[in-house]
Amino acid sequence: MKKTMQIPFNRLALSGAEFENMAKAVESGAIQGDGKFTRLCEGKIRKISKADTALLVNSGTAALDMAAILSGVGPGDEVIVPTYTFVSTVNAFVLRGANPVFCDVHPGTLNIDEAKIEELITPKTKVIVPVHYAGVSCEMDSILEIAKRHGLLVVEDAAQGFNAYYRGRHLGTIGDLGALSFHGSKNVVCGEGGALLVGNGAFRSRAFYVREKGTNRVDFVEGKIDKYTWVDIGSSYIPSELVSAFLSAQLDSAEDLTRPRVRAWNRYFERLNPLQERGFIFLPEVPSHCVHNAHIFFIRAQSGEAAKALLASLAGRGVSAVQHYAPLHVCPMAERLGCGRRSLPVAENAAKCMLRMPIFASITDDEVDYVCDCVEEFYAGKHA
Ligand SMILES: *Cc1c(COP(=O)(O)O)cnc(C)c1O
Repeated sequence: MKKTMQIPFNRLALSGAEFENMAKAVESGAIQGDGKFTRLCEGKIRKISKADTALLVNSGTAALDMAAILSGVGPGDEVIVPTYTFVSTVNAFVLRGANPVFCDVHPGTLNIDEAKIEELITPKTKVIVPVHYAGVSCEMDSILEIAKRHGLLVVEDAAQGFNAYYRGRHLGTIGDLGALSFHGSKNVVCGEGGALLVGNGAFRSRAFYVREKGTNRVDFVEGKIDKYTWVDIGSSYIPSELVSAFLSAQLDSAEDLTRPRVRAWNRYFERLNPLQERGFIFLPEVPSHCVHNAHIFFIRAQSGEAAKALLASLAGRGVSAVQHYAPLHVCPMAERLGCGRRSLPVAENAAKCMLRMPIFASITDDEVDYVCDCVEEFYAGKHA
């Protein structure tokens, strides 16, 4: 009988200090947000990302919602987003009344195809939203140049990009605003959490008001005013100290949580490259100027049928591989908004053919080898 292993898609990795920190937060007597651990996390995020300003928030989605508010878009404005992304990237702007304009992606990275952005720009365009898929950066120099030429803002969805870099710059710090996520599925986690990185200083003070329900409480805390008041729109975007306490421990281990993923990513690549050379699968591309964080290891099969069969075969061997996004332009909501009619073939193809392999900090070489054996066995005897 063939050996079988059970390999989950993701496995929670702890730094070890999470519960101790949470106990400290409880003992402090104040577990609402904007306390000691919130500040500690913000300092650690600034240190790693070199961002001038980092605001800890409830989720990557909350960071995107805040970025959309700060960008000032409203009904009739247009926002260019890749179609191959999570719904939060686009909902943030739709909630402001703006219209998404979907762009196709590169087949090798599944990032927005910068060569296709300019043809989508109209007098109504206000923002470009690059999404750094899998922690591999979009082509930011080209995107910034296009944005500058047309007077547009750049909001980076760096939800998957913590501890990943473009020409030495941390993802989320390159555009005007950037969103990070610490959702349980990401590399560094606290269940639900995120951060808004403010690169454009013009947004700095408003960012704090918007996070604190549209009040200038931050100025009160800093002793600048003796009573805080309603000064902007906003909502409740600050995480509890319990969550920040957990995250603070994870942030201390950011390198240790990333390194083993990169090792696994490289092992997958080496082991599966012969199948790519024989024409069975495509492996992800990482441009040489990008340092990625191995958030995702994906492969693309030659057809949707092949991907489905491979997925079923892996499941039968105990391996949880998973597909990813349905391109947003083909979703029912895009239909309702009237922005889903163009065909975007690269993303449509990726949605059918792409599989993500198990990857997490505690995955062992044996586990990666087992997954690769299963993929090889699936293709054994087949013709490309
Ligand atoms: C995870 C993710 C989000 C949302 O982050 P949450 O913290 O789950 O709200 C947004 N965009 C992308 C690309 C993501 O991967």
